[in-house]
Amino acid sequence: MTPVPFFSFAAMNEDLGTAPFDVFRRFWDRQWYILGESVTAFETEYARWNGTKHCIGVANGLDALHLALRVLNVGPGDEVIVPSNTYIATWLAVSQVGATIVPVEPHPATCNLDPARIEAAITPATKVILPVHLYGQACDMTQIMAVAEKHRLYVVEDNAQAHGALHAGKMTGSFGHLNATSFYPTKNLGALGDAGALTTGDAALAAQVKLLRNYGSSRKYYNETPGYNSRLDELQAALLSMKLPFLAQWTAQRRHLARLYQSQLIDLEEITLPTTSDPAAHVWHQFVVRTTSRDALAAHLTAQGIGWMIHYPVPPHLQQAYLSLGYRRGDFPLAEKMAGTSLSLPFFPGMAEQQVEQVTTVIRQFFRQT
Ligand SMILES: *Cc1c(COP(=O)(O)O)cnc(C)c1O
Repeated sequence: MTPVPFFSFAAMNEDLGTAPFDVFRRFWDRQWYILGESVTAFETEYARWNGTKHCIGVANGLDALHLALRVLNVGPGDEVIVPSNTYIATWLAVSQVGATIVPVEPHPATCNLDPARIEAAITPATKVILPVHLYGQACDMTQIMAVAEKHRLYVVEDNAQAHGALHAGKMTGSFGHLNATSFYPTKNLGALGDAGALTTGDAALAAQVKLLRNYGSSRKYYNETPGYNSRLDELQAALLSMKLPFLAQWTAQRRHLARLYQSQLIDLEEITLPTTSDPAAHVWHQFVVRTTSRDALAAHLTAQGIGWMIHYPVPPHLQQAYLSLGYRRGDFPLAEKMAGTSLSLPFFPGMAEQQVEQVTTVIRQFFRQT
């Protein structure tokens, strides 16, 4: 059997044809490398596409989260509510501003921050709710915004995995006061290197992010505030503008592949499939199943030449990096259960139907034998 990779850029790159080379040619001829017309153009295009007034390009997704919290004046003594199950970047942004991380457990069906549990975690020190649209599925932003409004809190969406996901007809990244996203190469919209952005409806917040990403300066060599260097490259911005029009077709392919996987695994009792109540709410950044025989199944997949990943094997509270927070195994049982049972199957635009079938056949074969 031909191996099935966990991920491949090949088909997406093929869809782009010679466009990347035309982008590079124009970039080369223009001889302008930092904060020029390509960054401005991408910011305008992405904001319009995302249904937000403003987009500010930055160096990566972690910086976008960090700058969002900085601009909202979050710091020592403030509490930020984050999911207990997320990529560590979400937590690191809170650490970077010196605020207190308040983990809240996910809803077991969606794996997203459970609105019902958020309110119980709110204290007088709470300043921000930071929901993550995990694996590409939109959080229930109606409920999260209602809780935030009731308690006068800011909302910062981590939209790194969910470009184009809809909640109540609006795209993720357009609900919170200031939202962060990443264009890391393997995200649904990926650059050819590191890149990220913030989105907001607030012109004053957007202006502050623009200052902070560029040394706290709006006029060269005059610095208004101690800022950072977190600029989006001209070349990456131009490449992202070129790729953005392809995102809808790649998302459609992801949805088709997710339906195929679901239909071919639906009757397997040993596997919990990812679900979504609204097809528009999910852009399938990853296709993550759960099973108590995860490690044995993963070993079987490897033996059969099938790629896989675990998102994520260790929840943030049990990472060595957060030893100082003093958390123990058992503190966030749902996050721990997800870390112990989740398995991401091969998934990428351009994946062949026959490849999905090969993966599901091997999975079925495994469960017949055990
Ligand atoms: C990828 C990712 C980030 C960080 O993005 P980078 O561009 O790698 O810094 C943040 N949050 C989540 C949920 C992510 O998946």
